[in-house]
Amino acid sequence: MATILIVEDEHELAALVRRQLEGEGHAALVAHDGPTALIIAAQAAPDLVILDWMLPGLDGLTVMRRLRERSTVPVLMLTARDDEADRVLGLEVGADDYMTKPFSLRELMARVRAMLRRVELLTRQAGDGAAPLALGQLHLDPLARRVEVGGAPVELTVKEYELLLLLARHPGRSFSRAYLLDHIWGADYEGGDRTVDTHIVRLRRKLGEVGERISTVWGVGYRFEG
Ligand code: CA
Repeated sequence: MATILIVEDEHELAALVRRQLEGEGHAALVAHDGPTALIIAAQAAPDLVILDWMLPGLDGLTVMRRLRERSTVPVLMLTARDDEADRVLGLEVGADDYMTKPFSLRELMARVRAMLRRVELLTRQAGDGAAPLALGQLHLDPLARRVEVGGAPVELTVKEYELLLLLARHPGRSFSRAYLLDHIWGADYEGGDRTVDTHIVRLRRKLGEVGERISTVWGVGYRFEG
């Protein structure tokens, strides 16, 4: 089940959403303001963030922007007015979905399930199968979505994980940035090549020695050395 961060300054609403999520077997974390949300997100690497726009400290848009500097975690934005939706979805660091308050908890849960399914689906597609992978120090279990280097678990964001899985499944094969963007971010993603580069940089850092096996192929993209 997923770890979901709820960022909402209305304590009762946050508690209500939390109970619903926990009722469906998820682990739920709550932050009542923007700065706390960023700290929890960095520590817990949630699978999904439910983020209210109007927050004390930092507003939801700022929180989303900061989140996206380090992760591609799916964000479901809560807005007070319907006409805010275009802004929320259209921004460069846009939310993946939004809901306008007041909303029904049933509808919220349906959106959450749909978003989590999408992430799972992408992970599976990027994986070309579910067999565990062992490449030297690197162990990758697609079903459990677990990555270990030398026996120690490595925490990756969804996109970092998908990138690694795709590269490591095909050692020695070069992938262009365009291909990676298409297959991991989707054809309608509007970010550029730099998105791939920044994810590769973070991936290499997190993987330590194993990260050095991800080579830059000049003028093309990246390759996992076999
Ligand atoms: Ca609020």
